[in-house]
Parts: sequence; structure tokens; C-alpha cells
Amino acid sequence: MDVQENLQNLKSKIPAKITLVAVSKTHPPEAIMHAYRAGHRVFGESKAQEMLPKQEALPKDIEWHMIGHLQSNKVKYVAPFVALIHSVDSLKLLKVINKEAKKNNRIIPCLMQIHIAEESTKFGLSFEECCQLLESESYQKMHHVEIRGVMGMATFTDDNEQIIQEFKNLKQYFQQLKDSYFKHVEHFREISMGMSDDYQLGIAEGSTMVRIGSAIFGSR
Ligand SMILES: *Cc1c(COP(=O)(O)O)cnc(C)c1O
Repeated sequence: MDVQENLQNLKSKIPAKITLVAVSKTHPPEAIMHAYRAGHRVFGESKAQEMLPKQEALPKDIEWHMIGHLQSNKVKYVAPFVALIHSVDSLKLLKVINKEAKKNNRIIPCLMQIHIAEESTKFGLSFEECCQLLESESYQKMHHVEIRGVMGMATFTDDNEQIIQEFKNLKQYFQQLKDSYFKHVEHFREISMGMSDDYQLGIAEGSTMVRIGSAIFGSR
């Protein structure tokens, strides 16, 4: 696996305005450094306890994205530095993120993870739960989180039509949330959708961020 070659390849296929999050979970810091030396700075991890030691060991200009389910009691480990949390899946979690961000005297950018897959195992809010969260009094009082958009994972399937439909749904949820709650809010603009096997479908359906692991670092 040539990480630099894979990255270069992907970058030639992904429009420059789309953020490529290189998903480095389970891969050692040396693998991340290969990508770093090729000029890449945005990396995604799915566990706080894995992200923290990597952040400590690696260059400080790396942007760390939390993409996996985040337990409330782990937020404190990443709150000082995390660049974007893609996986907000409850009001309770968002409250803790807000509290830890405040302790660190910062605002943490977040995406709401919306459940779009048919599998029940994938985390995420329903569209209705998203609306409830945004309408809640406790959300209105939060000053240390900034909701930048939505994230979703499609069903693990070979059926491209199904994946496309799920991505269309996510795009539509994004648009409805934008119209209802973030009409003139410029920072509400991200749709994180697409992984190694479906990023081209994601981009075609309006993704602004793709999260790609195995196509860069090899299989896990
Ligand atoms: C692991 C993971 C990815 C990357 O998956 P690949 O198929 O290796 O590209 C993307 N998003 C989330 C939420 C993940 O957990």
C-alpha cells in the first residue's frame, strides 16, 4: 500500500472544494506521517482513546476529526483540540461537548449524525430527533458548540440505487434543517457523506466532505 500514491489518486478524483478526511483509525502514527509528508492535514479517528495519543505524538497542525460514536465520558479527552465532531447523536452528548468546550474556552464545531441506513446498528438521530434537539431549550442555551451540518452513513450494500437514495435523503434533511433553523447561517453548510466504496456516489449527491480510510491506508 503506497499511502502517498493512493492520496494523489483520490485527490485527482475529488473536487478541491470537497474536504477529504483521511480515516486513519487502527493505523499507526507512521502511516499518518506518510500522508502528512504528502501534504495532507485532515485525519479522522473513531475512538477518543486512539485519537488522543496520536494527537500527542504527531504534528500540531493536523486537524483531527472525530467520526465514530463518541461516549459522553470520553469527550474530555478530545475537547482541547478536536477540529470537528461528525457524530453527534444525542442531546445529552451535545450538552457534554458544550460543557467541555467551555472548560477549554473554545467553540467545538459539530455535525449531527442522521440515521439513513436500513441497518439498525448504525448510530444516528432520526430527522425528527434532529428537529427536537434544535428546538430544545437546552440547545438554545449552548454557546460553545457550532453546528456545521450533518453526517450520514449509507447501508453496507452493493445496491448503488439504494445508497444513492439514502444519500438523497440526507441531502434533503440537510436542506430542510437549513431552511428551518439555519437559514442565514453561513457555517451550516457541511454534508459529510461518502466512504471508500461510495464516495463518488456521495459527491454526485452533494457531499461536501468524504471520509476515506481503506482506499488510502489499506484494509484494517
Ligand atoms: C471507518 C469509517 C470510515 C472510513 O471507512 P472506509 O470504508 O475505510 O473508507 C468512514 N466513516 C466512518 C464513520 C467510519 O467509522
